[in-house]
Amino acid sequence: MNDEILQGLIQNSTIRFAAITGKELVAEAQRIHSLSRTATAALGRELLMVAMMAGQLKNDTDSVSAILSGGGPGGNLVCVGRKGPFVKGCAGDPACELPPKANGKLDVGGYVGKNGKLTVVRDLSLKEPYVGMCHLISGEVAEDFAEYFTASEQQPSLVYLGVRLEPLSGAVLGAGGILIQPLPACPEENIDYVMGKADAIPHLTERLSQGESLRDIVLSLFPEGGVAFTDTLTPAYRCDCSRARMERALLSLGRQELNKIIEEDGQAELSCHFCNSRYTFTKAELTHLLQEGAQA
Ligand SMILES: [Zn+2]
Repeated sequence: MNDEILQGLIQNSTIRFAAITGKELVAEAQRIHSLSRTATAALGRELLMVAMMAGQLKNDTDSVSAILSGGGPGGNLVCVGRKGPFVKGCAGDPACELPPKANGKLDVGGYVGKNGKLTVVRDLSLKEPYVGMCHLISGEVAEDFAEYFTASEQQPSLVYLGVRLEPLSGAVLGAGGILIQPLPACPEENIDYVMGKADAIPHLTERLSQGESLRDIVLSLFPEGGVAFTDTLTPAYRCDCSRARMERALLSLGRQELNKIIEEDGQAELSCHFCNSRYTFTKAELTHLLQEGAQA
């Protein structure tokens, strides 16, 4: 089954939702970064969330970034989403593995840590990007994003994110998430209706793993909720790095630093944190870049 995001409205259009199945994009992140099981679950959950948020972007130059910095052994987890939606992400320590929790689940909260914050940057092609943040609740990702929407964007939200792995091989069996947000003036009883589904929603990933379609699951979650689907999107893990972008990164080091690289190293090799692509610049190319940069 292919990755998909469904957007829509429930409860007489008083509540909006986005739901995602993202097995392929999480598996791609796992492959690129050789993620441990715990890292796959942690970064996977964040990628699913950022993909749903990026599904709301309107312009090609818009982006949304989320940085989880919880002080855990996994280091900082950075995900960026663009219109498409296309997402990319990286973890500070992709190989770090932790023993499972007492209930057998992967210790995502332990990997991320909870002594820190979640920062969200929404760059909507305006003069200034919107930057919001909140303190982490548990490092389990979904709870932290729910806190972010409520505390920083004054938008109470129900967030579920899940990644299921094959116990022996660690292969991704399923990855799913849902974001539910009441619109302004949503009646209290409609919110209560959604909250009543809090026990059923966490079965989303398990049901996706068993081959049920996202659409059928959403319809069965809200049987009396009058589900109206408004859009279907195809999310994917895709990096937007380029040689031109790496040139700008080199120039941003400054003339002095660039001169030092030319004299001491005679070349520069940069690799992209998000897709591991390598970019090599020879001495002649660096010198040319320095001259061009000086003119610009
Ligand atoms: Zn890249």
